[in-house]
Amino acid sequence: MKRIFHVADDASIKKGDVTDIYYQRTRDIVITRGLADQRVVMDVHAYSLPPMSDWAVLAGIEETARLFEGVDVNVSAMREGTIFNRYEPVLRVEGAYGAFGVLESTVLGLLRQASAIATKAARCKKAAREKGVIFFGIRALHPAITPMADRSAFIGGCDSVSGTFGAKLIGEEPVGTMPHELILLFGDQVEAWKAFDEVVSEDVPRIVLCDTWFDETVEALLAAKTLGEKLYGVRFDTPSTRRGDVRRIVEEARWILRLNGFDHVKIVVSGGVNEDRIAKLCDVVDAFGVGTAIACAPSIDFAFDIVETKGKAIAKRGKLPGRKEVYRCTKCPRHQLVPAFERVETCQVCGGKVERLLKPLIERGKIVAELPTPKKIRSYVLKQLEAVELRLNTSS
Ligand SMILES: [Zn+2]
Repeated sequence: MKRIFHVADDASIKKGDVTDIYYQRTRDIVITRGLADQRVVMDVHAYSLPPMSDWAVLAGIEETARLFEGVDVNVSAMREGTIFNRYEPVLRVEGAYGAFGVLESTVLGLLRQASAIATKAARCKKAAREKGVIFFGIRALHPAITPMADRSAFIGGCDSVSGTFGAKLIGEEPVGTMPHELILLFGDQVEAWKAFDEVVSEDVPRIVLCDTWFDETVEALLAAKTLGEKLYGVRFDTPSTRRGDVRRIVEEARWILRLNGFDHVKIVVSGGVNEDRIAKLCDVVDAFGVGTAIACAPSIDFAFDIVETKGKAIAKRGKLPGRKEVYRCTKCPRHQLVPAFERVETCQVCGGKVERLLKPLIERGKIVAELPTPKKIRSYVLKQLEAVELRLNTSS
């Protein structure tokens, strides 16, 4: 198939053609030596998480379910959006090794990147508390995967995304302000703001960019005087060479707006924003535009390992052999990781009832779990976020 862009097509991904060569060679060898039908249990787990992360958000489960659809295996997985810890299996596959071994890199790629993005989004949302977080990061990624990134950022907790294609996929309205290009084309910020107000549909909040020519405080007041009550907010995308003390810039802008009777104007900050900066600014800023920090979040270091062959627990050194279960307390955030044959009824810490997190996803190639909407997954993430701690890098 002739393709324009350097991306793999769905059929090649499903067939196992988008993998590391050593898995294809392993497939050839096990077929030749009659091991292809050997029953194995493999689980996906992370033995380390990104710096400052004690927990992570699982994403990519829907695509993984689609990958295994039609493959003769049984898969159990944590529900998409589940907050998990190190060592815990998030997904378990049982079947003949020859039926799915070649998909190892594919499964990991789907889960690692989506979970990385969802986890960073969750960290940003947790840091922002009740303030808004908008994902502006698709420009950091190959366009072919931006719908995955928008979906992962949204389910991780971002309130909205700017990507048009991704927003459509998750059933949300894309959210945006205005680019510097608009102001540069007019050569005058006031003319650009007025044109935006006159042309763009009335239901779009008037958030104007206030950092192109003059100081943010000067442009913010100018914007408020130009659009008056119609001005919903101002965005500061201060260039890094001029950033100095962003907090002071925002505080000054608020003061000046207030002094002139424009208390209603919201302040949005973008440019180089991550969870550490959000935590420092969220008491003075109304919303944050986060791009590269979420789009290029540090990978969640999942591995997909054999833990049982022919009914016997096995693993390479440094890994826990055997089939496992993870139980979560329904009252506190405590998890318990145990061998699958052990039954856990109550929480060791608070005595609350526990629930098993690995639930059937695929049975003999058929999807048997409900695949919830992104909105539903996001609510599930936000609920769990209330109970976890956020460690931040305070030196940055
Ligand atoms: Zn408990």
